[in-house]
Amino acid sequence: MYTITSTKTLHNGIEMPRFGLGVYKMDDPKEAFNAIIKALETGYIAIDTAAFYKNEQQVGEALRASGKRREEVFITSKVWNTDQGYDETLRAFEKTLTALNTDYVDLYLTHWPVPEKFPETYRAIERLYDEKLIQATGVSNHEIHHLEKLFATANIKPMVNQIELHPYLSQVELRHFCEENDIAVTAWSPLGRGRVLQDETIAAIGEKYGKSVAQTIIRWHLQSGHIVIPKSVTPSRIEENANIFDFELTAEDMTAIDALNRNERFGSHPDHFAY
Ligand code: NAD
Repeated sequence: MYTITSTKTLHNGIEMPRFGLGVYKMDDPKEAFNAIIKALETGYIAIDTAAFYKNEQQVGEALRASGKRREEVFITSKVWNTDQGYDETLRAFEKTLTALNTDYVDLYLTHWPVPEKFPETYRAIERLYDEKLIQATGVSNHEIHHLEKLFATANIKPMVNQIELHPYLSQVELRHFCEENDIAVTAWSPLGRGRVLQDETIAAIGEKYGKSVAQTIIRWHLQSGHIVIPKSVTPSRIEENANIFDFELTAEDMTAIDALNRNERFGSHPDHFAY
């Protein structure tokens, strides 16, 4: 049975929470701070931020204000595209540590595979890992060909690949490749940025359990083995999204949601991003 503190063991032995709060587009500092505090009070033990989100400072402040110990909360951050390259990544990481006001980051990711640069960026992330400034290495938005390129030079495979993943984009081939290579998958835009919430099939499945579409989708992610980081700044939704540990989808429910895939992206394709 999953709980809000259930973890997935990464290939280096680090336990990563399977459920957390995503904080993209929490641009207003007070709103971000309040949402993160609310999540920590609700029992969330993981926060997914990035230098690009410009709210690492609020993550650190909320963590301290919550009274939680640093090691009780798993923090992911990411190096932005304009900071990629070896030295640049090391410098960007320093800024992230300062903003978070902490002495380590649990998981640090290459945000997007910037052509020509992402292998060097990952090499810097490996150095941060060797220096014990991060607990786990990872990447985001890496397709199979990006991962294969990294494998050719990396000393240690990334532990996580964070990708766009929801019922309308189920990424079967990439997920399968990650599983074969012991790379955990985190689902970004797990609710399709809110755009999968009108789905009638999912609504009918959720109704059987007295659960909303959002809750049913988040539960589908968990039971599919994904790490899931839904975003909301609304206190009632922050609670709602965490209220998914008291029911279980059947194999038929899971198959029905799997069948909704239409390879539809709401974000950029990593190979066509305007780098
Ligand atoms: P999401 O799929 O989590 O959807 C968020 C939106 O859904 C919210 O803005 C809200 O409008 C709505 N919502 C949330 N809970 C709801 C509920 N219970 N009922 C009704 N509506 C609800 O979208 P996201 O923010 O794009 O993705 C989640 C996180 O993934 C981000 O915050 C960020 O941490 C991460 N992310 C990473 C990348 C990347 O490139 N690595 C890209 C995008 C997002």
